Amino acid sequence: MSKIRVAIMVRVETTEKCIGKGCLRSFFAKSEAFARYAADEIELVGFLHNGGDLEHKIATLKSLGVDVVHLSTCMRGREPRYAEIAARLSKDFTVIGYTHGQAQGKLSPTIDLNKGELG
Ligand code: SF4
Repeated sequence: MSKIRVAIMVRVETTEKCIGKGCLRSFFAKSEAFARYAADEIELVGFLHNGGDLEHKIATLKSLGVDVVHLSTCMRGREPRYAEIAARLSKDFTVIGYTHGQAQGKLSPTIDLNKGELG
């Protein structure tokens, strides 16, 4: 069993009302987007939003050895920069483009990128 360090990035506007219950429930239950880790040990290293100094946050996640960043389902559904942020994160991390709910979004297809996949 390998240990995978995970961070969850949610949409800044959503954090004005949402406490992250759906993201955290699926993480700790290893369900929905986190079902892929059934055979792995996973550690939640960070729970952050996409506002503020993104590069500073990325540097911190790198220093903490994060392997995978999950973009939240509300990022997939409502964030205009979803694809752009996923591409940036994929330079340093594997990116999974949702956290809970349907594996494919109604409005945006789910983006999954391996680290370095875009060059
Ligand atoms: S994906 Fe759901 S639970 Fe997670 S921050 Fe967005 S609205 Fe909240």
